[in-house]
Amino acid sequence: MTVPIAKLSFWGVRGSTPTVDPATWRYGGNTPCLELIAPDGTQFILDCGTGLRMLGSRWAAPNGGKAPETQILVTHYHWDHIQGIPFFSPLYVENNEFHFYSFRSKYLGRDSLKQVFEAQMALPYFPVDMSAMNAKRKFKEVDGGDTFKVGENKITARWLNHPQGCLGFRIETPAGTVAYATDNEPGDPKLDESLRELAAGADIFINDAQFTPEQLETTRKGWGHSSWLEGVKVARHAGAKTLVLFHHDPDSTDRMVDSILRQAREEFDSVFAASEGMVITLGAPGDRVQAHMPGTRTGTRTALRREAQFHAKVCGVTEGGKDFEEETIVRDISLQGALISLKHLPRLQSELQVTMEAPGADGVQAMNLRGYVVRIDTGTEKGHVAVGVVFTD
Ligand SMILES: [Zn+2]
Ligand SMILES: [Zn+2]
Repeated sequence: MTVPIAKLSFWGVRGSTPTVDPATWRYGGNTPCLELIAPDGTQFILDCGTGLRMLGSRWAAPNGGKAPETQILVTHYHWDHIQGIPFFSPLYVENNEFHFYSFRSKYLGRDSLKQVFEAQMALPYFPVDMSAMNAKRKFKEVDGGDTFKVGENKITARWLNHPQGCLGFRIETPAGTVAYATDNEPGDPKLDESLRELAAGADIFINDAQFTPEQLETTRKGWGHSSWLEGVKVARHAGAKTLVLFHHDPDSTDRMVDSILRQAREEFDSVFAASEGMVITLGAPGDRVQAHMPGTRTGTRTALRREAQFHAKVCGVTEGGKDFEEETIVRDISLQGALISLKHLPRLQSELQVTMEAPGADGVQAMNLRGYVVRIDTGTEKGHVAVGVVFTD
């Protein structure tokens, strides 16, 4: 018997507008797009922000291409959740079939999402029109409170508190439950309850964390977004197991998101900050939730590297939350980061103190660097993991 496993990939995590500022590069600048592959092979896409283009360029049709059907759940019609649609190349391929789910907007009426497609590609906003989109597209209206099944998976939609409306989705798969609640602001008792219902006992609860708790109470009140602290409160109250902070503000630099994540981790055991390229596996034996960053877009691969050998002492926190200290040799280093071989398994997105012995004019000198764990791979040495860090100081 095979163990059911679901795989959740983050293709876009930034709120409001894409960012290309290098200071936001580590968490990523594409707007919301997630992909969930359920154990039965059903492929879900959550939102169509600019991250959708990246997904399209690495497209692997579900079910080995035999019956390429994909379920796309759209939370609402704000730009950052739809702007990837015209740039999603699988929509231009005849064999593909897409099932879109979204709500009837009172501003658009019937076939709201279909109208959004047409409007986005109308002259003079886009060079080709809808006739170029050859894939089959089916549109289904869902309303807050609806539940429906796709394959073995149960989907529940609930209204969230956001200007012009937004749906949150809960997807229950045999490997575990994912609750996706982007774009919501606390303060409406009925909709706050909807949010808790979506998150109830979820293995992964993805929540809007655009603003700081201070901003949320003052200058950003009424803007339709939430904070890490509200996410922690809901996760605790609803018994969610892992909280993912999502929809980062375009003005939040990586350092600011680091600080938000650090504060959230002081209050709740299992928290990650959504990061472009992050993959969370649900249902793997021994450990129900595993997050990792495959090495495709992290700095240690692309930056100018130097083969070197530095003795180093590394201090950090393990996946299980214990402090560790370990001596190792750093063999792969650049100005931005390093690949470090460790016996301990550090927690993804945690800080490592790396003290290296560097030869200087007056003999060997200690060099202290603060690294941030962006990636963990199986190491080449037996019993070791290869840990990619980005230096933040
Ligand atoms: Zn948004
Ligand atoms: Zn919005």
